Amino acid sequence: MMPDLRQFRRIVLKVGSSLLVDRARGRLNHAWLAALAEDIADLHARGADVLVVSSGAIAMGRTVLGLPPGPLKLEESQAAAAVGQIALARTWAEVLAHHDMTAGQILVTLADTEERRRYLNARATTLKLLDMRAVPIVNENDTVATSEIRYGDNDRLAARVATMIGADLLVLFSDIDGLYTAPPNSDPNAKHIPLVERITPEIDAMAGGPASELSRGGMRTKIEAGKIATSGGTHMIIADGRAKNPLRRVQDGGRCTWFLTPSNPATARKTWIAGALEPRGTLYVDQGAAKALRGGASLLPVGVRRVEGSFARGDAVMIRDETRVLGRGLVAYDADDASRIIGRPSSEIEAILGYHGRSEMVHRDDMALVD
Ligand code: GLU
Repeated sequence: MMPDLRQFRRIVLKVGSSLLVDRARGRLNHAWLAALAEDIADLHARGADVLVVSSGAIAMGRTVLGLPPGPLKLEESQAAAAVGQIALARTWAEVLAHHDMTAGQILVTLADTEERRRYLNARATTLKLLDMRAVPIVNENDTVATSEIRYGDNDRLAARVATMIGADLLVLFSDIDGLYTAPPNSDPNAKHIPLVERITPEIDAMAGGPASELSRGGMRTKIEAGKIATSGGTHMIIADGRAKNPLRRVQDGGRCTWFLTPSNPATARKTWIAGALEPRGTLYVDQGAAKALRGGASLLPVGVRRVEGSFARGDAVMIRDETRVLGRGLVAYDADDASRIIGRPSSEIEAILGYHGRSEMVHRDDMALVD
């Protein structure tokens, strides 16, 4: 059973360079972008959160700078990105403003999605923008990202961002309408696959190499993106983005490939907290707090009696009472600051620490309790 596009509440759209940039004429495909903005406005109007991961900075910049075709050196693509990103962001802001939507530019590097502290920051900012009904326009910060520390392709970047914000759907717009059993332009017997319930080694084998000079991605990185997305609780679609209003096309039953996630974002996040991270310390809570946690509450500083270990904000910690482990969570304060506010009401945090931190020591969304 194929899911219905209308059921999704938080959607990430990834648009590739070859769709956005008209290289022959040396500019962005304005008419196409304006039509995509209509699709986004439709989603927005029915209350969905929308985030766009937009490529095109390097492709656009190299055109503006008149760089010759062929592979670019790292510094050349960084310089091209610096030039192209301005045009890209401005155009997004314009086409969205036409539908009374506000764009916010976010440039991320690999470290922003991998290091816990920076991850939490990037996540908080992005969620705040969505909260304020803005449309975040995300790209890799190519100008500062050097080869060892960059994604290099926006497919995987989009998948990371999608799981980071707990999106329920990621749509990768491409110049092909989904996954085929073999590359369709070289194999006439290639068959289209409408639904992938699990990315098996067979599915992996169907992805060839990168597709074109403009899009680094190709099917390989799209399948990698699919692994990141579906294991993080996000469904994914690969769809043909070339025609105008590509999202409407998918909604009307246009051909695409669905990759289904077995879990939902909230469950995936809890699994990640419960299993993936090494706890850096322990919070000992009192009986009242232990009871409140089991009732679904967040852990407040006032309920913590003792802090052990040296952890930083965003690290995983054990949560326990004197007799047993209750669960794990991501702590909102460094160990030093945490020990200064334990046992105290949240209203006093600012006076004690000199800054306005979170009211919760561990927010319930950042916590996985043992049964
Ligand atoms: N971040 C690159 C750009 O904006 C694109 C990477 C990709 O095409 O996946 O030019």
